[in-house]
Amino acid sequence: MTMLAPGAVIGILGGGQLGRMLATAAAKLGFDVHIYTDEADSPAVRVATAATVSAYDDAAALAAFARAVDVVTTEFENIPRAALERLAAEGAPVRPTAAAVATAQDRCNEKTFFQAHGVATAPFAPVDSRADLDAALAQIGAPAILKTRRLGYDGKGQARLATPADADAAFAALHGAPAILEGHVQFACEVSVILARGVDGATSAFDVCENAHGGGILHRTVAPARIAPEVARAAVEAAATIAGALEYVGVLTVEFFVTPEGRVIANEMAPRVHNSGHWTVEACLTSQFEQHIRAVAGWPLGPTVRLADAEMVNLIGAEAQDWAQWAADPSARLTLYGKREARQGRKMGHVTRLRPKDA
Ligand code: AMP
Repeated sequence: MTMLAPGAVIGILGGGQLGRMLATAAAKLGFDVHIYTDEADSPAVRVATAATVSAYDDAAALAAFARAVDVVTTEFENIPRAALERLAAEGAPVRPTAAAVATAQDRCNEKTFFQAHGVATAPFAPVDSRADLDAALAQIGAPAILKTRRLGYDGKGQARLATPADADAAFAALHGAPAILEGHVQFACEVSVILARGVDGATSAFDVCENAHGGGILHRTVAPARIAPEVARAAVEAAATIAGALEYVGVLTVEFFVTPEGRVIANEMAPRVHNSGHWTVEACLTSQFEQHIRAVAGWPLGPTVRLADAEMVNLIGAEAQDWAQWAADPSARLTLYGKREARQGRKMGHVTRLRPKDA
């Protein structure tokens, strides 16, 4: 296994807050970071050594980027597969691969993949027409959730059906986009596994954490999750199985529902570091960001030991206006993403609080 030496350039596709925090972690290990994004003035670009601002289908810009970096990774799962394939064809190591990222881009493919590897999911069926929706409802029943197959995030592109009578409204809400109907899972809690897999195939997970959503957006994460050890083990095992099957390199996040009986049901995966892993920055020996950089640079994975219990709360939209109050609170560790505009529903920063373990 070849380790990239300090001074090498990590190329990151995507310019959001995850790229910003990855860039900071890369700098800590002596790497330079080159961001490729299609958005001007993005959070990651302002902390990076170099930036390309261009469309993801700009062949010339992608070729130049491939030449300028030593490895390519992503901070955003909706990078077009073709862009990742083009970078690999130009000779750049792409970690995780285009195929791994693409599997996570389509909810039907993702759930089919989970099931093929023995990982349980909610019952689901593809919906491409109004007639498909009736057929899917007959098979799955209500309550159910209709979601776009692609490009959904933070609860966008979803419509809930309490009864089959909601079918017309739900179908109309998705504007004809290819969709998936999922049975509603009665869950006791939602958890995520943040797991890294190295170039050598070694895996290492952070302690499973527990997530609370509001309006489809992550609101709060607590670590560790309040679940039995065997339930946590089952979730980590499922995530490791998925990472191995994808021949994944980097940090992979898998979100699960935990049923009242303690079954873990995979909801979705993100081929990247994740909002529910931000607490690792303050609470663990290695953060999820450093772990991802280590993995894609061919370095050994770092220790994921958790030094404290943690709670992370997102600052959404106008909530970040209270930054001075958070800054003055000695029990709160504040992170701001440097976004210029606090639009409604936009993640602007987060606050992490630590408590002594098992206090
Ligand atoms: P997603 O975009 O798939 O992560 O969905 C956002 C949130 O909606 C999840 O974190 C859950 O709180 C809820 N949700 C999504 N799918 C289901 C489901 N099949 N059953 C119950 N709740 C769900």
